[in-house]
Order: sequence, then structure tokens, then C-alpha cells
Amino acid sequence: MCAISTPETSESTEPRVQALIGRLKAAHPDAACVLRHENPFQLLVATILSAQCTDERVNKVTPALFSRFPDAVSLKGADVTDVEELIRTTGFFHNKTRSLLGASTRIVEAFGGKVPSRMEDLLSLPGVARKTANVVLGVGYGIADGIVVDTHVDRVSHRLGLTRAENAVEVEKDLMRVVPRSEWILFAHLLIFHGRRICVARKPRCAVCPVQDLCTSAPYFLNGRIPPWERRRGGREARGGKGKARKRLAKGKAKRGTRRRAIRGAERRAKGGAKRK
Ligand code: SF4
Repeated sequence: MCAISTPETSESTEPRVQALIGRLKAAHPDAACVLRHENPFQLLVATILSAQCTDERVNKVTPALFSRFPDAVSLKGADVTDVEELIRTTGFFHNKTRSLLGASTRIVEAFGGKVPSRMEDLLSLPGVARKTANVVLGVGYGIADGIVVDTHVDRVSHRLGLTRAENAVEVEKDLMRVVPRSEWILFAHLLIFHGRRICVARKPRCAVCPVQDLCTSAPYFLNGRIPPWERRRGGREARGGKGKARKRLAKGKAKRGTRRRAIRGAERRAKGGAKRK
């Protein structure tokens, strides 16, 4: 099995990354942004709403939101509770509303109502970090300034051995070093689609993966083991759910706590009863 070189090694990753991109393109010819939008402003809003939420859910919410508030001017003057009600089902709706109104205000006041097309300007908008800015630049304006790193890109690029970085900013830098700039925009979509369909968090489907021979993690997963780099990062995904063990533990503790409180209460009542007698 051919191991892909990582950014730490001196061997060039280029031919293998090219092969990787070619095969991912063939496997996911439909890879693209699935957030429905008609202009960069709508894309910005949808991307802010997509934090900790599925794209499908965002697409259910945005038609009503965009018909009430089609641009930055209208959203800037919106009533907070109206916006919160419209986006409630996307989660974290208080924070998201604050970001949407704050970003709209700055877009109107500092950029004449038009979503800026420079990274530094986008990063000056409330609620906008590199991931959102990269989506707006790449998908909205066709500008490859960086690579979108979401949860799928982070997981799959680690598994493929393209990075060993511990935060999204460093992951992005590693990817920008090994992926040709002409592919930066599409590359993120390819990893997102691959992460949703094949390299899923809990049980990656390595046996049917078209890049199995280029992947540093495949030999581990195929032998029922978790790769050391995934274990170092917590190994939660492939172990079968980050929350399960913790939830079970918390439930057990809660039950034990309830039992202890009930026993203490009964003891207190018994003592009180004894004194009264
Ligand atoms: S071989 Fe397995 S771990 Fe590697 S990219 Fe494919 S599904 Fe993910």
C-alpha cells in the first residue's frame, strides 16, 4: 500500500495529491456548495447559519429569511426577535442573530451595502472567521484566497495524511502548501462530499474508498484499528461517537447523585421524626 507523504516529510506530495484530487473528482462529480443562495450576501448569511447545523436545515430556513430580509440594508434594520424566530431551528440563534445583524450593519456602514471581496475585510465582519470568509470568497466570488476547513475537511485531511495540525488555521496552511491553488476552491467541496459519503466520522468505508491506496489511515481502519494520529486527537469519531461514553458516564453519575440525595433526605426525615418523638 502506498503511503502518502505528510507535510513533515521532505518527499514531494504533489503527484499523490494530484492523483487524490483526480480520483475524488471522479468519485464526486457533483461536489459543490449546497447552501442555496443567489448572491454573496445570501451566501454569507447561509454560511453563518450553517455553524453547528446541517446545510439541509439551513436551506429550509433561508427562503423565508431572504424573502423578509433580502439584503444587508433590510437585515441591518431588522427586529432581533423577528430574525431569531426565523432562524431558531438552526440552533445558537441568539448568537447567530447577533452576527447577522452585526455583519449587515458593518456591510452597510463600511462597504456601501456590498459584501466585501477581500479576506481582511470579510474577517472584520462580526461572526465571520476564515471558514466563512473562504466560502464567500471561493463560492461567492470565485477567489481562491484559502481553503475552507470545516469538520469534514479537518477529519479527512488528517486521515489522508495531508496534515497533522491541531487547529483549523494550521490545517488550512498545510493544505495550501500541498494543494495547487487552482484546486483550492473545489478541493474543500471534494473533501466535504467524501467525508459525508465515504470517509464518515464513525465508520469510514475504507473498503470501497477510491483513494484507499493513497491514504495513510486505510491500513489501520481496514484492520479494525484506529490510526495513532486519530487516537492522539481523541479518537472519538472512529470509536463510535464522541458523546456516547461521556453521556453514559454522566447519566450514571446523575442516577447515583439522585440516589444519594434520596438516601440523605430519608435519613434527615428519619432523624427529624426521631427528635419529634
Ligand atoms: S481510505 Fe478510509 S480513512 Fe482513508 S479516505 Fe478513504 S474512507 Fe477515509
